[in-house]
Amino acid sequence: KAKELGRNTFQFYSREMNTATLERLMMESSLRHALTGDEFELHYQPLVCLRSGEIVGVEALIRWCHRDLGVIMPDRFIPVAEETGMINPIGDWVLFEACRQAQAWIDAGLSLRTMAVNVAPVQFRQAGFVEMVAGALGTTGLAAERLELELTERTVMHDAEFTLGTLSALNRMGVCLSLDDFGTGYSSLAYLKRFPVGKLKIDRSFIMDLETDADDRAIASTIVNMGSSLRLTVLAEGVETAEQLALLRQMGCSMVQGYHFSRPVTAARMTELLRDQPFRYEK
Ligand code: C2E
Ligand code: MG
Ligand code: MG
Ligand code: MG
Repeated sequence: KAKELGRNTFQFYSREMNTATLERLMMESSLRHALTGDEFELHYQPLVCLRSGEIVGVEALIRWCHRDLGVIMPDRFIPVAEETGMINPIGDWVLFEACRQAQAWIDAGLSLRTMAVNVAPVQFRQAGFVEMVAGALGTTGLAAERLELELTERTVMHDAEFTLGTLSALNRMGVCLSLDDFGTGYSSLAYLKRFPVGKLKIDRSFIMDLETDADDRAIASTIVNMGSSLRLTVLAEGVETAEQLALLRQMGCSMVQGYHFSRPVTAARMTELLRDQPFRYEK
């Protein structure tokens, strides 16, 4: 009986695994093609100063425009790209393209303080990452101070000594560093002090129910207070309503990002938003 069950279980998993493996193989080879076939595109979302309402920076967010499947969002393909190692060439492309676009906006006379780029854990740990960042800045002419790398707690807390070395090298170059999705991972507060990080991005999950959930308000306000005590900029992600914005203002949060201001938009649309500065929002 047990043997029978075991065999059935095996067959079940084996079939599941074949499907998963097949899907992964297909995704992997089309990811490879996507890079050479120019199927990736960066969209940009404003990072807004809460006090002035100005766009002080933008975050680059990758989209995969697949010939047959249409637009594929990063949550679907970044994990596969990480598993297969494709994240390294894709991440390199993102970094160069984001730096190139930022410098193009600056050359066009538009005011843009920061270009924020997401960095995956595997990419952060790849040999020569710091040199690659330096190369992107050198080639595009973007000043290091304009580039902000977004890392998650998961990325930085794993192997803290390695992290400290890499972050310090980037920091010495002048590159800014921010902790993305803050509050969802585990951060050692001691490392928060040791790492040369300049910004905390409060995860969207704490902002979503800010109006109705007292616990989320307590968490958001604690992060804002801790951040400002440590002289860090605190940004709230996923701000969708005027009520959330008002609460964040009361808490003393300094930056915001979310659909309330703008969804991620194409480079062309972002150019218009930057031209229309100062960015205005209701109340
Ligand atoms: P993230 O870095 O936390 O980026 C913010 C995500 O929240 C974006 O989703 C953005 O569209 C979404 N968002 C912003 N404001 C709002 C809002 O008000 N409401 C809601 N519901 N969502 C909002 P997106 O573009 O789908 O990206 C998802 C994640 O994929 C990113 O999360 C980031 O972890 C990853 N990602 C995106 N682009 C890249 C990239 O170039 N490289 C790497 N390694 N990861 C990337
Ligand atoms: Mg991010
Ligand atoms: Mg985030
Ligand atoms: Mg997030």
